[in-house]
Order: sequence, then structure tokens, then C-alpha cells
Amino acid sequence: MVRQCVILVGGLGTRLGELTKSVPKPMLPVNGRPFVEILIEEAARFGFDRIVLLAGYLGGQVVEHCAGHRRIAGREIDVRVILEPEPAGTGGALTFLRDVAEEEFLLMNGDSWFDLDLREFATVEPGTAPFLLRMALRPVADASRFGTVALEDGRVRAFLPRGTAAGGVMNAGIYLVRRALLDRITVKPCSLEGDIFPVLADEGLIEGRERDAFLIDIGVPADYAAAPELLARHRTRPAVFFDRDGVLNHDEGYTHRPDDLVWLPGARETIRQVNRMGWYAFVVTNQGGIARGLYGIKDAEAFHARMSEDLAAMGAHIDEFRLSPYHPEGVVPEFARMSDCRKPNPGMLLDLAAAWPVDMARSLMFGDVQTDMQAAAAAGVRGVLHPDGNLLERLEGALKG
Ligand SMILES: [Mg+2]
Repeated sequence: MVRQCVILVGGLGTRLGELTKSVPKPMLPVNGRPFVEILIEEAARFGFDRIVLLAGYLGGQVVEHCAGHRRIAGREIDVRVILEPEPAGTGGALTFLRDVAEEEFLLMNGDSWFDLDLREFATVEPGTAPFLLRMALRPVADASRFGTVALEDGRVRAFLPRGTAAGGVMNAGIYLVRRALLDRITVKPCSLEGDIFPVLADEGLIEGRERDAFLIDIGVPADYAAAPELLARHRTRPAVFFDRDGVLNHDEGYTHRPDDLVWLPGARETIRQVNRMGWYAFVVTNQGGIARGLYGIKDAEAFHARMSEDLAAMGAHIDEFRLSPYHPEGVVPEFARMSDCRKPNPGMLLDLAAAWPVDMARSLMFGDVQTDMQAAAAAGVRGVLHPDGNLLERLEGALKG
């Protein structure tokens, strides 16, 4: 499972004039926080927990604000900032990755957001023809403003300057990179778009993946001005809240060892379907076994990490896992009580709705017992009881009715 995400945050932002005189473009505020924070949060929800920011211009601000360990999307996220000693271009910047790059990593521009399922994008199916770079592409109706790419049989063959084609697909600024690409960068400064991509395209080493999704480039003044409203709108999605034991995995009673994970029929396929719908997929699980001293929070998190690995193999993901370690009859003092976050109370759902822009009115909760339904109702979410059977059929039924 690809877990590293590299974000290019070194650009000068010349199109924004005064705005970027004292603040690097990816650090410009959108809805009260730096734009790059939104990109980090997006990467985190798809399970990318090792983030590398390649900084240059005014990079000290990036270090000060972003570097370090943080908990985002219920995961431990490591954010490392590498400062380029001198401007080396988008390609040259990648050479500073040589000591840290993993075999495959996600690469994205720090000044734009393309609403892509990053986990699906970073999953390479067995039998895929070799590539050094997978490029996310977006259809454009009017190619007078954007350069386009010539795409043949899923391969990018050439890059066309703006105005040469009536329409087509454009580079959306997100890539899955094989580490071997770094060996192709031999001179600095070097531009990925200008120097590296055309050569790789010639050799047939760029796979193109077309997605018709929302894209915003805050380097364009009009886009930056509209960013608060557009980002809030496009990131607001319904969610499916999944109870875990008895809905997603076989419930042994206090199941917590990763090796005991047995997926129930249709569970993984349902999560993948929820991902493809563009909805959030959350897990909300009572883990009273922690209060009872049977296992610890770290054990439950290891179980969730195994679930994420299994899901990633099929290009699916859970955006965030929430667990409640409480139980009124527990023996571990700090958890031996009832809590707003123990179902049938709605705390876990409400906390997720506070942490993410969730359209609760259209959201669903799947559970196998009445306490799940009570939690859903108390959170204002439609509960769907799933005592047994195939979960994907249950989802299809729930979406109809
Ligand atoms: Mg259950």
C-alpha cells in the first residue's frame, strides 16, 4: 500500500502579486487555515500517513507551521519538510527526495486541489503495463486556456500547447511516481512539465488516468478568491457510518487480533462502492474490551490498519476510524464509565460530523444491533439495520428507498 505523499510547495506564486510577497502560495489562508493543510488532510483520509513537503520560497514558514507529527483522520501523520537550498524547478526539487523516496509515492502540486479518489489512483492492479509515472487527467472543453495531452490507449503520448486542440484532457497535477523516475533527473534546474514528462511520454512510460472531477488552482487570482466557497461546497459529502463488528467483519466477541479479521459478505465491496460514490466512509465502533482490560487502543488500531491494507489492495479506503474504549463495567479506571461516545449515544458520529464537512441529512448508518440504530437516530442520520446477508445488496436497497 502506497503511504507516502509528496507535495510541491516551493513555487513563487507570481500570478498572485502582493498576496505572495510575504506568504508562500500553498500557505495562503483558505477558510482560516493554510491551503496546504487541506491537501494534507485529504491525503490523510486516504491513508497516506507519510507526507513530504518540498519547500523553497519562504520555506521557513512551511517548516514552522507544518513539520512534525500530528493526528489527522484518526491516524498518526508524519509531516517532513525538505527545504531546497536553491530554486531547482519542479524536477530539480525531486532530487532532494533521493534519501527519503519510497518505491512508489504520490506527488501533487501544493497550489491546486483535484477532487480525486487518491487511494484508487495509487492502487496498481496486477497486470498493469510498466510505467514510471501515472498522471491524473481532467477533461477540458476549452483548450485555449490550458495545454492538453495526447492520450492513446491509456498512455500519454505527447503534450500539446494551449490553443492547439479544441478540447481534450489536461494534466491535473497529481501523479503516482515510481522511484526510478528520480534517476532521470540529471541536471538542475529542471522542470517536470518542460524537461522530464515529454521524454517519458515519448518512451510510453506515462500512464494517463482520466477523471471528470472538480479542480481548483489557487495560483489563479479568481480561483483563489472563490476558494473558500468552492472548497467548502465540493468537500461537503454525505457519509456512510459503518458499525464494525458484525457488519464489516465477523464478530468473534472482542475481536481485536489482526489475524482474526474475517470480512463479511459484500463488506469490502460496499466500502469501495461508497468511495466511488464520493461519500465519506467512516467506522464507528464500541470497543468495550479496552475498558475491560482485554486489549489496548493500540491493538484496536492495529486491527484497523489491517483493514486498511486489505481495502487498499482493491483501491478502497476508510476515511476515518472512530472507536469508543468505554464500558460502564470496565476495570481500566480511565475508561470504566458510560460516555457520550459509546453507542447508543451519538458522540462518535457527531465528532466526525464536526471534524469533516458531512451532509448528515443524506448520510446513512449501517449497524447490526438496535444500539447502532439509536446512535444513528440521535445523530440525525438514517439507520439501516443489517443483521446478516450481503452488505452491498443492503446498500443498494437503502439508496433506492
Ligand atoms: Mg456490531
